[in-house]
Amino acid sequence: SSLFSNLPTIPPDEPFSVNAAYQEDTHPKKVNLGIGVYRTSEGNPWPLRVVEDAEKTIYEMKDHGRHEYLSIQGDQVFLRLAADLVFNFDSTTKDRERIASIQTVSGTGANRLGAEFLSRYIHPRPQNVWIPDPTWANHHTIWQLAGTSSSSSTPSIKIKTYPYYDSNTGGFNYNQTMKKLSSEAKENDIIILHACAHNPTGADPSIEQWENIAQLCKERHLIPFFDLAYQGFASGDVDKDGWAIRHFFQAGLEFCVAQSFSKNFGLYGQRVGALHVVTKAPSATITSTGHDKDPGTTEDVLATLCHLVRGEYSMAPRGGAEIVRTVLSNDGLRQKWVEDLRMMSSRILGMRRALFEELVRLGTPGDWTHILRQIGMFTYVGLSENQVAAIRERHHVYMLRSGRISISGLNESNVRRVAMGIDDVVR
Ligand code: PMP
Repeated sequence: SSLFSNLPTIPPDEPFSVNAAYQEDTHPKKVNLGIGVYRTSEGNPWPLRVVEDAEKTIYEMKDHGRHEYLSIQGDQVFLRLAADLVFNFDSTTKDRERIASIQTVSGTGANRLGAEFLSRYIHPRPQNVWIPDPTWANHHTIWQLAGTSSSSSTPSIKIKTYPYYDSNTGGFNYNQTMKKLSSEAKENDIIILHACAHNPTGADPSIEQWENIAQLCKERHLIPFFDLAYQGFASGDVDKDGWAIRHFFQAGLEFCVAQSFSKNFGLYGQRVGALHVVTKAPSATITSTGHDKDPGTTEDVLATLCHLVRGEYSMAPRGGAEIVRTVLSNDGLRQKWVEDLRMMSSRILGMRRALFEELVRLGTPGDWTHILRQIGMFTYVGLSENQVAAIRERHHVYMLRSGRISISGLNESNVRRVAMGIDDVVR
């Protein structure tokens, strides 16, 4: 028999398989609410206007070095701009010294690199990683693979979940989350947090709840790990969407941030991202020469991250990062980006309202106000698995089994149809 006859059976990845089923459907009025990508009101992909401008600028520069290798760390100007976006630093800050940043293969690569780093190098070794239930499904895959040795398929860190979602309110289940973590999380355990626009539920903690989560992490010595895939996509305001991370920073915690530029720059296939590892403020010591000396924590973290990346793929790709760098380093382009972001997030907000209003107009049984309270690209609309199957079969509306819908798949010409489908399957 073949060498490969003993491979495990891997189930297809759901967003991609729902997308494939949608592509095969020949119904003229089919609707795709499965995969998390931005679509225009005509249902088309949208290369941001500012990205097209930046691409032109880069091309016209005719830089002969534009296809050279980056360093292992990546494009350092890009990394500095990326960190400033997350932490809202100004040019005079010394806080940047607390952060080791490395360019990654988008948000997925940042999650994976962070998982690898924490599983291999933290002592005492974290016993558990706490993942929200539900979450972006890839968190499970990433942590199953992280830190496993070739001789064993058992992850070195146990995956546990905390009860994130309250289906009664359509919101974040703050009480049960706090209860679970404060009774069961152990010192150095890792807690995965979606910085904003939680995928798949669209339910985020309030400011006060974030403050209490930070406090809990501090008291119980947990390691927060922020997944930041939607900065600017939740509220349209990058600073507002980064609030929780900055609060944890100011609280003096050590933590990770996996940053993606897939959604907020529409650079999905370019794989642009960064991992930021935040360390404690360096305690300056006076050396014999009288100078402040950094104890080297961030340098050590960075060297370790570079080691992991070198052994994996040497360095992240440079094309997409160059686009982001060009936009973020130019005031005019940056302003244009803010406008593009507002355009996308306000179209999504408008579609939330339109779906809600259609359901109310139809008198669809149930409370649909969670659609308005939830935020970002996704909503847990509140259909059962059977109802999801029925709406696909009877109305050609595609969504994930959990009832997660990507709001950006809605537009003026299909929202009524989707609402009527929901109405039909819940009655
Ligand atoms: N985290 C979350 C929560 C996401 O929703 C996504 C995108 N679906 C990612 C990370 C990573 O996406 P990418 O690798 O394209 O940056």
